[in-house]
Amino acid sequence: MAWDDGTVDASLATALARTHAWFEANSGWAPPDPETLADWRAEGVCRCPDECLVVIDGVCAHGLASWNLVLAALAADDAARAARLGSRRP
Ligand SMILES: [Zn+2]
Repeated sequence: MAWDDGTVDASLATALARTHAWFEANSGWAPPDPETLADWRAEGVCRCPDECLVVIDGVCAHGLASWNLVLAALAADDAARAARLGSRRP
């Protein structure tokens, strides 16, 4: 997986799309706080938004991406957006 060259694995993109659809269909979820995420990363595991426990960059049996993947994708989106905005500045 490579976030830095702008390519995203197709199955990962599918999992992320499914996860965002899940966000829209479900309430009561919240992203993990940074300490929790750090604990998961230290153990090489991660929760998905539906509470499934998977490997750090895993996709659960329901097809949802782990929080690590979701948050990394959001950070990559933000960085791309910031880069586009920055390039428009005089
Ligand atoms: Zn699941």
